[in-house]
Amino acid sequence: MKIGIIGGGINGLSCAWLLAQKGHQVQVYERHTIMNATSRASSKLLHGGLRYLENREFRLVRESLRERNDWIRRVPDLTNPLRLVMPIYQGGRRPAWMMAMGLFLYDHWAGHNDLPGTRRLTAAEVMQRDPLLNPNRLGGGFEFSEVQMDDYLLGLWVAEQAKAIGVTIREHAEVTTVDTHGGVALTNGETRYHDQIVNVAGPWALELLQRSQIDSPHRLDLVRGSHLILQHPCLQAFLFEVPGERRILFVLPWKEGTLVGTTEVRQTLHDAIACSSNEKNYLIDVYRYYFPNRQITVVETFAGLRPLLYTAKDPNKATREFAIHRTGQLTTVLGGKWTTALALARIITDMIQKSLVA
Ligand SMILES: Cc1cc2nc3c(=O)[nH]c(=O)nc-3n(C[C@H](O)[C@H](O)[C@H](O)COP(=O)(O)OP(=O)(O)OC[C@H]3O[C@@H](n4cnc5c(N)ncnc54)[C@H](O)[C@@H]3O)c2cc1C
Repeated sequence: MKIGIIGGGINGLSCAWLLAQKGHQVQVYERHTIMNATSRASSKLLHGGLRYLENREFRLVRESLRERNDWIRRVPDLTNPLRLVMPIYQGGRRPAWMMAMGLFLYDHWAGHNDLPGTRRLTAAEVMQRDPLLNPNRLGGGFEFSEVQMDDYLLGLWVAEQAKAIGVTIREHAEVTTVDTHGGVALTNGETRYHDQIVNVAGPWALELLQRSQIDSPHRLDLVRGSHLILQHPCLQAFLFEVPGERRILFVLPWKEGTLVGTTEVRQTLHDAIACSSNEKNYLIDVYRYYFPNRQITVVETFAGLRPLLYTAKDPNKATREFAIHRTGQLTTVLGGKWTTALALARIITDMIQKSLVA
């Protein structure tokens, strides 16, 4: 079958790779260059998403942990195990018993892998990890395993695997409209026909449907997330509670510096996808709360737009699950996570394989 994929982010590339493995002739259309948008602006974690346990997203966390294992197994050179410390402060939102329960499930669902399990730490042990950490009311903490990746390089790796088995990737090829009979119209006036089209244009997927006058049962909640890169090396990866909020903050090693993120700001596709000065100040304030005596220099900022399914008033509570919507020969994907891109691609591939025998 001839399959057209719209979007060269991690979801589009993963779908292209797995569909080509089934012998399909796959063409990816990417309006800029591959891996230029959301998939390159993530927190760079292949993770279960400990925080999603609070939203009772048990299925998603379990699947993400399985997918995390799969990425480490497939691409050991581009995935790095990371030990994160979550300090527990007196008066915090998440008491030690709650964290212990969540991390017990996390380790259990992660199953057999080479990552070390969770360990409880005393306050003195937490302070040893980074002596500049705020010691006031620190009661101890937990150390647990996650996996870090370079989202851009790992995405390019997937693209290389796809190209090696025949996928063609057309960059600077913007799709203006699609139809439900396999038609893809490009900005240069060309129209291409495929047996199946997969619209995986991330935050732009719904806009493409609207432009093509195709209805969708779903709504997207576009929520910007920004990160800072600080100049100093990161002594220890941390997960912190944002004081007075339900949100959490990552402090992670990134190349020679420290990655701090993220934020949640609703926006439209017309607004710039860039870290605002408010977000920068917010991230600096939270970082300073935990490291009041560290000199900080911001060397870079970046932002991405989460294409979340609209499921909650508070974007922090919105699901990270994806939804798949089919009309005729057109399949649209909305939502999702980096970690679960191959799980999504397996579902899309199965659906397309089944349509072959139907
Ligand atoms: C701040 C932030 C942090 C995150 N952290 C993590 C994390 O640590 N771990 C995790 O698992 N997930 C994380 N995520 C989620 C994850 O990054 C996204 O779910 C994932 O990258 C979405 O990939 P995608 O391929 O669907 O979208 P994108 O990467 O946005 O790709 C869509 C592509 O479609 C192209 N396109 C759009 N319109 C057209 C058109 N008309 N014609 C042709 N091409 C088009 C775009 O140029 C783009 O390249 C994070 C997200 C954000 C925003």
